[in-house]
Amino acid sequence: MTRNLYITNLFVKHNLDCFICIGTLSGFTRPLARLIDQFEQLPGIGPRTAQRLALHLLRQPEEKIRNFASALLEARTQVGQCQTCFHLSAEKECEICRNNAREKDLICVVADSRDLLALERTREYKGLYHVLGGLISPMDGVSPEMLHINSLVKRVDMNSTKEVILALTPSIEGDTTSLYLSRLLKPFTKVSRIAYGLPVGSELEYADEVTLTRALEGRLEIE
Ligand SMILES: [Zn+2]
Repeated sequence: MTRNLYITNLFVKHNLDCFICIGTLSGFTRPLARLIDQFEQLPGIGPRTAQRLALHLLRQPEEKIRNFASALLEARTQVGQCQTCFHLSAEKECEICRNNAREKDLICVVADSRDLLALERTREYKGLYHVLGGLISPMDGVSPEMLHINSLVKRVDMNSTKEVILALTPSIEGDTTSLYLSRLLKPFTKVSRIAYGLPVGSELEYADEVTLTRALEGRLEIE
């Protein structure tokens, strides 16, 4: 629990046990300061938003807070990974893999579950998915063995998959991973890649539905 504090242009790191820090939280009492600090540690939450969320929660009835806390714990303890596609799931197999209306011979490969959810929002894709758990990145020490790639090859081989669509963020890591996968999978099936309807360097999960739909429609087979 650290808090950054500027004193006459000097950057000093303090923590919440420090009397200066408790003082600088604009008179917030300690349990509230702790709550704000927890919110600040979440991605995309700055100090002002953290304060607003914490104060909002304090105004809620106790039962609502209990439900919120138990939802957090329940999600953490019960949600794991689908044993087939590695999407987030509380069951052994996720809803998409269990859905008989989906096209079972089509697999769309994504880096993580957030990308899968973005594609699902388009309502255009009716096949299955495979979540890699990241992208190959030698710079960050991520090698192919650390991703769900072996399981993908086995899956494609065993289920006589007709096509694998690679839907990876257009970046050096995304391109490297796409090339690696296409070489591995081509002996087994047709491999295509979503078209660049997306700006280079952008994150798949933040793309709007129309852009993602066009990208899917314009996918190209890798020669
Ligand atoms: Zn699944």
